[in-house]
Amino acid sequence: MSTDELSALLEDFGEPKYRAKQLFKWLQSGIDTFDEMTNIPKSLRDKLNDRCYIANAKIVKRFASQIDETVKYVFKLYDGEYIESVLMRYEHGYTLCISTQIGCRMGCKFCASGLGGLIRSLTASEMLSQIMTAQKDNGIRISNVVMMGMGEPLDNFRNCSKFLKLVSDENGLNIGLRHISLSTSGVVSGIKKLALLNMPITLSVSLHAPNDEIRNTIMPVNKKWNVEELLGVCREYQKVTTRRISFEYALISGVNDTKACADELSRKLKGIMCHVNLIPANPVKENGFKKPDRKNIEKFKSMLEEKGITVTVRRTLGADIDASCGQLRKRVREEEDADIQ
Ligand code: SAH
Ligand code: SF4
Repeated sequence: MSTDELSALLEDFGEPKYRAKQLFKWLQSGIDTFDEMTNIPKSLRDKLNDRCYIANAKIVKRFASQIDETVKYVFKLYDGEYIESVLMRYEHGYTLCISTQIGCRMGCKFCASGLGGLIRSLTASEMLSQIMTAQKDNGIRISNVVMMGMGEPLDNFRNCSKFLKLVSDENGLNIGLRHISLSTSGVVSGIKKLALLNMPITLSVSLHAPNDEIRNTIMPVNKKWNVEELLGVCREYQKVTTRRISFEYALISGVNDTKACADELSRKLKGIMCHVNLIPANPVKENGFKKPDRKNIEKFKSMLEEKGITVTVRRTLGADIDASCGQLRKRVREEEDADIQ
């Protein structure tokens, strides 16, 4: 809840509204129970206990990498559903990759998160809770957030925009919007709404193919909004926000890694101030896709660079924890099913 919403709640409780700021600070500090709010009178704590709950994500599995400081989490939510987050250590600090939905309905062919469809969207507090729990578990401050875990953030626009407001509140986690990236598979209507908010976050667009012919085969969302519409709205977004856009491109061997693809991609991105992030595709056993070998990834990178595009290849962190987006949750659910049978 925002401070305004807490004020309204206090009014409803017949309590003084000035406590809203105190409550907000407490709720953003990672507490598990209202009784930990030591400077709040017992009578108010009782009312909170009766009528409210704290939507904390509980750690069910924690996989810590032996080669770097990456930690992958499976969290359980109040309704027994599972989500994933990944904590990564960079030179500039800690980054948490958070989930925005349980499952996903976009159905991208290379992704494990979408295999079981969408179960439900996360609330803003469930997104915040992933950060608070990971901070508490490691005794650290998370300085950067990427909304790149399970789910399509722009298919959960209301909660994600509320999350962005709350997470950057100076009385709360106080993570600056410039330190936050939101990744979308290309929900054009959502990008338009996001442009209206004009927030200084980084927009990441999962493009993965330079044309409709290829993109239609791997990303069903392309049938609703094709490459031309998507790049058109990216141009508009950039005009409004003046922010550089990041394009994600998962390289899948034999699908989108040819020289022709690199050429077409560089042509289509002309005029957009952007950065291309190449992701060697993570194999998911259900789809049989493979990543190109290192040499071909480097070749694709150089072909784009020759056309003046800034390119990075995503570093593989926590490679010894054999799992990527959506796979840990799937594994925990399968284990649970096996226990029941
Ligand atoms: N739904 C949003 C954000 C979550 S997915 C989106 O699609 O952008 C985060 C990123 O991981 C996206 O770029 C997505 O395309 C990519 N991704 C998903 N599965 C992958 C896989 N098996 N290998 C490589 N990248 C993958
Ligand atoms: Fe959903 Fe993103 Fe996975 Fe596509 S890649 S299914 S949009 S989480």
